[in-house]
Amino acid sequence: MSGFNLIPLRNWGFNIKKPFVIAGPCACESEEQMRETAERLKDQGVSGLRAGIWKPRTRPGMFEGIGKEGLSWLVGAGKNVGLPVSVEVATGNHVELALNAGVDILWVGARTTVNPFSVQEIADALKGVDVPVFVKNPLNPDLQLWIGGLERIHVAGIKRLGAIHRGFSSYEKTKYRNKPMWELPIELRRLHSEIPILVDPSHISGERTLVASIAQKAFDLSFDGLMIEAHRDPDKAWSDVKQQITPEKLGEIVSNLIVRNETPGHDAEDVLLTLRQQIDRIDNYLLEILGERMDIVRKIAEFKLENGITILQTNRWKEIVEDRVKKADQKELTQEFVRKMMEVIHKESIRQQSKIMDNSNL
Ligand code: PEP
Ligand code: MN
Repeated sequence: MSGFNLIPLRNWGFNIKKPFVIAGPCACESEEQMRETAERLKDQGVSGLRAGIWKPRTRPGMFEGIGKEGLSWLVGAGKNVGLPVSVEVATGNHVELALNAGVDILWVGARTTVNPFSVQEIADALKGVDVPVFVKNPLNPDLQLWIGGLERIHVAGIKRLGAIHRGFSSYEKTKYRNKPMWELPIELRRLHSEIPILVDPSHISGERTLVASIAQKAFDLSFDGLMIEAHRDPDKAWSDVKQQITPEKLGEIVSNLIVRNETPGHDAEDVLLTLRQQIDRIDNYLLEILGERMDIVRKIAEFKLENGITILQTNRWKEIVEDRVKKADQKELTQEFVRKMMEVIHKESIRQQSKIMDNSNL
């Protein structure tokens, strides 16, 4: 399948505020909790509510969601404040129950997107139904699998379709619960600019103090909106305690967001602004990638240290420069530029390795 034939987000039939934010608890816990959270969220600039009813948990015995009984609490809380409500679906049966209960928006969770059988089952349950659906990225950084999930839902006839970037699971411990790896949603945007992409700073960060900066980054990279977890009493939440924020904190974050102008007009200034936004996005991407390169460099340094190997291995370095310089023409770059760039990167890499090896900075 080449392109997606979708209805643009602004025409989804909801009151989509700018910035577009869906918020609510990780999980629906009680009728009271849902109602109070929704009431406190109502005036915080959100366009929709979220809550998990069925929770895919890593270990058995954890809170696995309140189950179908909670659907009417979620729908009721939404009606009470006049906001559409969304829920995660992982099976065909979930789709049926959610739609019968009057849920307005569905999303496929990261643990489900990894499994084409499950996504297909959901897609089959959606045939002939007109409901907005978001597909979260799979747990693993596999863009094709993410696109495949979106395609399955689209083939079922869903035209109000979007993606949610919630970061990628990794074995190594990082600052984030799920590594953002922004290059994946950026590539999704490049391949399919027709698909709206929301960012989920709660599941990326796993930590409430990081939510605001990731939310801003989402808009700096010109993504379309956010899904954020907010709970009436985050420290007492039954799941994802560390990453949830109060509705009031969410309001503060939303009102402080800087959302750049997305709609290019026809005058020169708007054209320039759009191009500059692309430059900003690419520079951010470059920094992200350089940071990742240095992460690996530091791992190599640790390995060298343990195994008594020198920092500089002349042959390897020569090969790297030759190989990268060879590719310069292809990209319409001069060989001199690529050589200089590699030298600067290499210098920083040696500095980082030296620091680890406890030598003086070069
Ligand atoms: C959630 O949104 O609560 C959730 C389970 O997210 P994810 O699928 O991104 O882990
Ligand atoms: Mn959660």
